[in-house]
Amino acid sequence: MRDSLGSTTLNTAPDSNNAGEPQFPVRIGRCIYCLATDRLTDEHIIPHSLGGMWQLLDASCEQCRIITSKIERHIAHEHFIAVRTVAGFPTYHPKKRPSTLVQPIQVRKDEDHLLKLSPGDHPAPLVFLQFEAPTFLSGLETPSIPGVVTAKVIARGAKLSKLVEKTGASGYSVPLPDRATYARFIAKVAFSYAVGAVGLESFAEVFVREAILGKANDIAKWVGCVDSEQWTTGTGEHECVGVLANGILQVGVRLLTKWHGPEYRVVVGRLHPSVSPVP
Ligand SMILES: [Zn+2]
Repeated sequence: MRDSLGSTTLNTAPDSNNAGEPQFPVRIGRCIYCLATDRLTDEHIIPHSLGGMWQLLDASCEQCRIITSKIERHIAHEHFIAVRTVAGFPTYHPKKRPSTLVQPIQVRKDEDHLLKLSPGDHPAPLVFLQFEAPTFLSGLETPSIPGVVTAKVIARGAKLSKLVEKTGASGYSVPLPDRATYARFIAKVAFSYAVGAVGLESFAEVFVREAILGKANDIAKWVGCVDSEQWTTGTGEHECVGVLANGILQVGVRLLTKWHGPEYRVVVGRLHPSVSPVP
């Protein structure tokens, strides 16, 4: 089954070969993070709670799942909670949908007051972090926490302004996600998509694996945003586009496309020469 919500194109660069379009779900048969082969569970490439439908079957062991669930909980369940509730995204626990949502507004400078609103009245700001380019591409030194160019309040800024006006507040603030966790989340999406596209056995080296598992502090080397060419088309709900060049597989990731989420670039890993032709 293909994800009707987004693109599954694995594009080709001039000096690359076409590894084909993934047809989800793809059965893997071992943990894509630690390669264990027992007690495997299915892996959603984009969380179900954000409307993701692409799946890898038997692709994560219990131990790695605990780690990746923590990442997803922070991003999908905490950071995107307002927009998920207001936009009616799918949930496995409909009864647990919040009946009120909090929006911080400022009554005086630097003093937040937490406004409790019903989902219908909540502006549900959608905040995306725009990162600096992956240092693998920029050649700059890798910081332990990814540098943020800007935090973009997208699509719903007008509703926020209206709320501020209505309440007579002086401003509002939007909670930001943890930067490293956010970048690990994007890396996890890109890596699991890439495994579905080219197969786990095609990787000679996976660059992002240790950082996703929290065992390395180099996520900024592999995940970021680039000013130049965008690979995603800006259509569909979520998009992943893989490009293979000089043996290195990069994936462009755009989440919640219709709300104009930015494109992230993830340098996922190096493939075996048999997959990537030697120029
Ligand atoms: Zn594992």
